[in-house]
Amino acid sequence: MFILTITTIFGLSGIYSYFDNGDVFLLSSQVPLVIWTGFFLVILAIIVYFKAEKTCNYPRALIGCGISANGYDDISEYQYNDVNWVIQAPRVPRWYSESEYYRDLPDRILVKTPPKCSKCKTELEQKKSLLYGYFLKCPDCGFSKWNSHHYYEDAERVKKIAKRDIEQEVKTILEGVNH
Ligand SMILES: [Zn+2]
Repeated sequence: MFILTITTIFGLSGIYSYFDNGDVFLLSSQVPLVIWTGFFLVILAIIVYFKAEKTCNYPRALIGCGISANGYDDISEYQYNDVNWVIQAPRVPRWYSESEYYRDLPDRILVKTPPKCSKCKTELEQKKSLLYGYFLKCPDCGFSKWNSHHYYEDAERVKKIAKRDIEQEVKTILEGVNH
C-alpha cells in the first residue's frame, strides 16, 4: 500500500509537471504546496479507510465488528441498579496478536456513561436532588429513579462485574488459541 501511494504521488505529480512545463522530471518544487498537502490528505484518508476495515480479524465472541469514531465497540449490556449499562472494548489494533489482545482486554474495557433507560434504552439524564442524592430521569418515557450517589459509582461497580465475566471468557478463548 505504501509503495502504491508513493508511486501514485510521483506518477501524478509527473503528469502535472508535464502539462505544466513539459518536463516530467521538473516537478516537486513547481507543484504548489497546497496541492501536495491535498494529495497527501486524500491518500492518507484512503489508507485509514482500508486499515480500519481490516481491524477485526479475530473470533467475534467478544468483539462486535464495526467502526466507531473513538475506536471502541459495544460488546455487551448489563442491568444494574435498575438501569442499563453498555460495556465497550477497544478495537483490535493490527500490531496485536490475538492472545495479546485478549490478555489485555479485561483491563481495557469501558463502561459507557450515562446509563440507559431499562424500558426504552434512551440515555438517562441526572439531576441533583433538592436535598440529598440524585435523580436519574429518562427524557423520553418518564422513567425516574432516585439514587444516593452519582452514577459514576455504579459505573465502577458494573465495570468490576463485567471484568470478572470477560476474564472468564478470555480464559476460555486463550485455551482455544493455545491448542
Ligand atoms: Zn425511557
